[in-house]
Amino acid sequence: MHIAIVGAGPAGLAAAYDLVRAGQSVTVFEGSESLGGLAGGFREPHWDWSVEKFYHHWFQSDRAILGFIRELGWERDVLFPRPYTVLYHEGDFYPADSIYTAARFFFRRFPPHDVVRFGLVGLYLRLTPWWRPLERVPASQWLRRWAGSRIYEAIWEPMLVGKFGVEHAETVNMAWFWARIKSRTTRLGTFSGGFQAFFDRLGALLASQGVQFRMKTAVTGISPRATGGLTVETLQEQQHFDAVICTSSPALASRMIPALPSNYSEKLRALRSLGAVVLIVALDRPLTRYYWHNLPKSAGFPFLALVEHTNFVSAEHFGGDHLVYCGDYLDPNHEYFHLSHEQLLERFIQAFPRFNPAFDPSWVRKSWLFKTTYAQPIPPVGHSRNIPDVRTPIRGLYFASMSQVYPWDRGTNYAVELGRRVASILLADLG
Ligand SMILES: Cc1cc2nc3c(=O)[nH]c(=O)nc-3n(C[C@H](O)[C@H](O)[C@H](O)COP(=O)(O)OP(=O)(O)OC[C@H]3O[C@@H](n4cnc5c(N)ncnc54)[C@H](O)[C@@H]3O)c2cc1C
Repeated sequence: MHIAIVGAGPAGLAAAYDLVRAGQSVTVFEGSESLGGLAGGFREPHWDWSVEKFYHHWFQSDRAILGFIRELGWERDVLFPRPYTVLYHEGDFYPADSIYTAARFFFRRFPPHDVVRFGLVGLYLRLTPWWRPLERVPASQWLRRWAGSRIYEAIWEPMLVGKFGVEHAETVNMAWFWARIKSRTTRLGTFSGGFQAFFDRLGALLASQGVQFRMKTAVTGISPRATGGLTVETLQEQQHFDAVICTSSPALASRMIPALPSNYSEKLRALRSLGAVVLIVALDRPLTRYYWHNLPKSAGFPFLALVEHTNFVSAEHFGGDHLVYCGDYLDPNHEYFHLSHEQLLERFIQAFPRFNPAFDPSWVRKSWLFKTTYAQPIPPVGHSRNIPDVRTPIRGLYFASMSQVYPWDRGTNYAVELGRRVASILLADLG
């Protein structure tokens, strides 16, 4: 059978791996010039490692991707350094990367009964496997009720508002929040050489196994054929396949596949998501001592997170450049999507003295700007009934995106899990 995969992100590559190993003939169409999708990176000539365009790390609990890497025999290249995460609270940064440092922070700032409630809520969310009842209520309501308003307003509300904006923070359901607490660890990992090194190595392995890559080839349409199978259309040509897996955004899929029955394409169009704007600044010296700074919007920072990558991975791998991400999740009509690179750089570095009073713009060596309109699905109350099936109503056509890994938050781990799941469904359908 000849199978097309639209998209060479983690989901598409993982699906290609299982399909080619099952003896299928696989062609991957990728619109951009590189593999890895949103998790891909780039490398300057004087760097040994690549850096992700959008900050990325793995959690120790990311079983699907770490298991996949073990299967490939590359586990020695997975590194778990010891970076520090800090919380911003009333003008200062506090380490919050272990139970001990978090407990110290909470006991110093909140009455003991609030801290106990906070601890019990965390324990309950870590232990309970039952997320379905939680999706019936907004996270804001559940957390206010069980963790208390003081803790909610100081810790969780800024996180929800930061991640989803004031417009959506109150609507995100508690199952999404449960999934974050349930699945995340404080230890963070990466791949030797950066995520791009992993994707390039995987791409080379797939190519050696016979997968055809059509890079810089955006698919413009997918349609069923009267005689069976599907036609994949690009600007250059039309090609026929027995089956297609599409890993684009739901909005793009609904436009690209006009033959989808309306109940399925309406489901695709109804899925809500936010975009992301990320500026990477290379400095000639460190800005801070920490890796991840969670920032409340109410404190007036022009971004949600400041992530000093070179406090996670040594600056030695980047020719001595110290790399700082400034990132935010935003509605695609937010002004940041229209401001120029220079305008955003000027706005963002104005906040740097709040992280290091000695900062001077002369420290900036270079910067890069990355934007995507599809970065973070928004899960409202009762979201499980909104999720489109990966098997579409068109025979032989499958759809797999970040919006379908719910209740888990999107991530490369879940993309790999989804890609492998869709490949096994397709193989089972082929009989
Ligand atoms: C700001 C940000 C931070 C993140 N942080 C982390 C993190 O720390 N850890 C983590 O694990 N994950 C993180 N993620 C999530 C992770 O990047 C995604 O979950 C993952 O990349 C999704 O994989 P995918 O294959 O489903 O989709 P994508 O990565 O979006 O890949 C889809 C691919 O399809 C291609 N494509 C789309 N349409 C077409 C078309 N018509 N024709 C041809 N090609 C097409 C695209 O170019 C792309 O390469 C982050 C994402 C963002 C935006």
